[in-house]
Amino acid sequence: MGAVARLAGRPEEPRDECAVVGVFAPGRPVGRVALAGLIELNHRGQESAGIAVADGARFAIAKGAGIAEVVFTFNREVPELPGQRLAVGHDRYSTSGGACDAQPLEFNGLVIAHNGHLTNAAQLREEYRPPSVDGARPESDTAVALQLLCHTAGRTPTERLLAGVRRLQGAYAMVLATADTLFGVRDPHGFRPLVLGHTDGGWVLASETAAFPRMGATYEREIEPGELVAIDERGVTSYALAPLSPAPLARCIFELVYVSRPDSCTFGRWVEPFRRRTGEMLARKAPVRADLVMAVPRSGIAATVGFAASEVARGLGVAYEEGLLTNAYAGLASGFRTFIRPTGRDAAAVIKYSVVEPVVRGRDLIVVDDSVVRGSFRHVAAKLRASGARSIHLRIASPPLVGGCRYGVDFGDGELLAHQLPAVEDRARRLGVDSLVHVSWRELVQAAVDEELPPGADDDPEVFARHGFCGACFTRRYPTEETGAIPRRVAAAAERAGGDAADTWLRPPT
Ligand code: SF4
Repeated sequence: MGAVARLAGRPEEPRDECAVVGVFAPGRPVGRVALAGLIELNHRGQESAGIAVADGARFAIAKGAGIAEVVFTFNREVPELPGQRLAVGHDRYSTSGGACDAQPLEFNGLVIAHNGHLTNAAQLREEYRPPSVDGARPESDTAVALQLLCHTAGRTPTERLLAGVRRLQGAYAMVLATADTLFGVRDPHGFRPLVLGHTDGGWVLASETAAFPRMGATYEREIEPGELVAIDERGVTSYALAPLSPAPLARCIFELVYVSRPDSCTFGRWVEPFRRRTGEMLARKAPVRADLVMAVPRSGIAATVGFAASEVARGLGVAYEEGLLTNAYAGLASGFRTFIRPTGRDAAAVIKYSVVEPVVRGRDLIVVDDSVVRGSFRHVAAKLRASGARSIHLRIASPPLVGGCRYGVDFGDGELLAHQLPAVEDRARRLGVDSLVHVSWRELVQAAVDEELPPGADDDPEVFARHGFCGACFTRRYPTEETGAIPRRVAAAAERAGGDAADTWLRPPT
């Protein structure tokens, strides 16, 4: 990751959503395996890509600006060493900070790649100030964490990491390496995903299972919240970060809503069926007579499929049609996902979508998207109207976003449309749509756990905590205080949940 508070004109401090990968497979082209993972996970970060390989004694590192395939096709060679045994890779999503913050970062024989955001980075920075690199000083929380870890005492690298990582607060899924051992670690709340896979002659780590097929790996299990694994010739050794005081789970539900790829198994559940369930709920919740249901591609497609497959939609004769297209060949250099673009999101929203005019002209449309963040859908609505759409009924497969994320996803309070305009009618007007409907807190959690929840949970902001999720951007009920302390209400909700909060998170994909 690498959050830096230097972006001019941004209402909030930028945050990152990144991808991390790790490979331990002596004698194999580990840098190329890492690259395969980075390419598959580029939806998580497109501003820089980097790979570090090690041979047991030293590292070779290459990184550059842009998406992984472009960086390592046109700008950089994939690093290689004779006798190489492990690799660490990172796709970065942050604008600021400059080249010295691109990851993986290396200091004193320790390499780090980080996804998340450390909430105590400012305090730690007073103690552990990163040194300048080629005249520029890294500013990210990851650079601070690296200094802390390098300056923590211990008899072995594993002991040092265990002691150092225990001082980090907030969200982190990290891949680290010394020259001969690969490490993976996930914060005790489990905000960000990290999965372990088995490959010919070794092991891989990745932010999402979608990376595994191209890396030649098969899914083994999740790295558990609060677990550190060390991977070397002896295999995978697991350590607990805080065995005496397990933290309440707070898995980022926005990973399921938007961030993860639909073919990933994140937090032990497939993303695609989760999104379909949210679409079915939307269809049931606010039936409307329309000529068709269409998606905002790509992140709205799975929910739209669920919507169209529902009994309600079939009963009304509302079928799925493709009314919006994105150009698969545009954005290679600048990045594809509108939401995680640091700048120019409105301009990107205007050029990103093409309207299929014969589909929309003179027709009443139901349009499904995963979320409304800053409201750039208004440009899409304007294009649909210009192409002759008669009415637009917008259906959103998540609740209104009202609070900024402290744990690694790039939005702050002030820029969220639902924060600016709490009334749904006002937001519908701003977006230029005839009606606007969201799934509720309960429905979102229900889709995640795939079981019926009582209707009262619609008004219960702790419904996320009770099921082991963070949903603070929807409720403004953060699972940790700024200090890292656990609010009493969160601890109580987790306690009431009993074993429920840990429901299926260790279930392997089937
Ligand atoms: Fe995820 Fe929202 Fe929580 Fe951030 S605030 S970790 S985006 S659920």
